[in-house]
Amino acid sequence: MQSTDHEYSGVDLIVVGAGLAGLFTAAIAARSGMSIVVLERSKQAGGRAATQVEVGIHFNLGPHALYCRGEAHGLLGELEVDFSGAFPAGGGAVLTDRDRRYPLPRTLRSVIASRFLTFRDKVRLLRLFGNLARIEPESLDRVSFGDWLRRTVGEGNANRFVRTLCRVATYVDDHERLSAGAAIRQLQLAIAGNVLYLDGGWQSLVDGLRENLASRGVEVRTGSRVRAVRDRGEVVSVELATGETMRGRAAVLAVDPRSAVELLDLPPESPLSAWTRRHIPVKAACLDVALSRLSQPSRLVAFGLESPLYYSVHSASARLAPPPVAVLHVMRYLHPDAHNTPTEVEAELEHYLEALQPGWRDVAQQRRYLPGLTVTHGLPCADDGGLAGRPGVGAAGAGRILLAGDWVGPVGMLADASAASAREAARRVAALLSGPKMPLPRSVSHATAG
Ligand SMILES: Cc1cc2nc3c(=O)[nH]c(=O)nc-3n(C[C@H](O)[C@H](O)[C@H](O)COP(=O)(O)OP(=O)(O)OC[C@H]3O[C@@H](n4cnc5c(N)ncnc54)[C@H](O)[C@@H]3O)c2cc1C
Repeated sequence: MQSTDHEYSGVDLIVVGAGLAGLFTAAIAARSGMSIVVLERSKQAGGRAATQVEVGIHFNLGPHALYCRGEAHGLLGELEVDFSGAFPAGGGAVLTDRDRRYPLPRTLRSVIASRFLTFRDKVRLLRLFGNLARIEPESLDRVSFGDWLRRTVGEGNANRFVRTLCRVATYVDDHERLSAGAAIRQLQLAIAGNVLYLDGGWQSLVDGLRENLASRGVEVRTGSRVRAVRDRGEVVSVELATGETMRGRAAVLAVDPRSAVELLDLPPESPLSAWTRRHIPVKAACLDVALSRLSQPSRLVAFGLESPLYYSVHSASARLAPPPVAVLHVMRYLHPDAHNTPTEVEAELEHYLEALQPGWRDVAQQRRYLPGLTVTHGLPCADDGGLAGRPGVGAAGAGRILLAGDWVGPVGMLADASAASAREAARRVAALLSGPKMPLPRSVSHATAG
């Protein structure tokens, strides 16, 4: 990147936000030789993919799993970002129903043997899973997942079991609003290719992307809060909280929806403002814990049926702490209409952990409670047409300003949506900049576009 004075610099692309979406966008665009700067308000890059590391113990921001057949995994491969990990340790996985535990039905044999399911449940489940890969999700985008599931497997324990799987795959507990099309795509993805827990946590992806960017001369400026982004015809001006103004030929806002609306100063009646007001974030409460040892080493995975709870020992597969220290996550999926207080939820998570790892408090080395994490922006609602109802990459309404993030575009959920929208945003930037070059305003220099 070149600059003519300390007030502003001209680059081809300014990316706002250094979460996965921003880093992916910059890494794709950098391959075509664009000059790029990434601006991040936090001291650390990574956003929700950041990992806290203390005395060798790695805590992701709640449980994170990378879908092996997902957009993010594919893009990381294309960008040659190195990472390692392993499939979740599935042995001993249980469903809990009050004080009862049932082996998680994972195979044909375990479904047939399950004491949790009636004969009728088993027939319905086997039919559903036999057909799942062939279901065309598009036809169910506007159907409520709750309605679809009742029609497909009835109201019994088969229904509760599939809801549990759906929660794990989507993090969504509001199955009445959730689009059946979106849920089925996510279940198909999970069943087709499993997930990975990553060695060193998701920070390994963030660090890998940053190294990739550094090798192409792309600067990631942390501690740089952006205050406004304006389309000025042939250039975009980006104003930082420090008062500094930067200019580029294009900008990608890889931030949360509310920040995007504020940065663009959109009127309340604009489609993006209206969507931002009505969108429902998908939230979770997480208890991240490191234990010096497990009192019950075989209890590695559990899902609650009576309450939407998750428990998994991630260090049983991924390198997250020096052995024998165990890193595990206990989580409650938060329904948007539920009114449990953070203290009540914390007590519930601790109680759940006590049932699975009795005496855990005596061997706790670290614990962190995060009561209201936004897992993903924009629950894909049936009323909105599912994933297709999310704002598009071009929804900023300004030709040179594009959007990316886990709430943008019709493809994928969670980090896969960040990756898919980043790819589309970078493609559009490349198309924009490949047209005839207009000179940037006087005293703004720019490196050559790809
Ligand atoms: C508990 C939990 C579990 C999850 N599990 C999974 C999982 O298993 N699988 C999966 O695929 N995904 C999972 N996710 C989701 C995944 O972490 C996110 O989808 C992904 O990290 C989002 O990346 P992003 O870049 O779109 O957004 P973010 O990570 O939110 O990045 C946005 C960035 O923009 C910055 N920013 C905002 N405003 C400004 C501004 N004005 N100026 C400069 N910078 C700004 C922010 O600081 C932030 O760094 C999980 C998330 C949580 C919380």
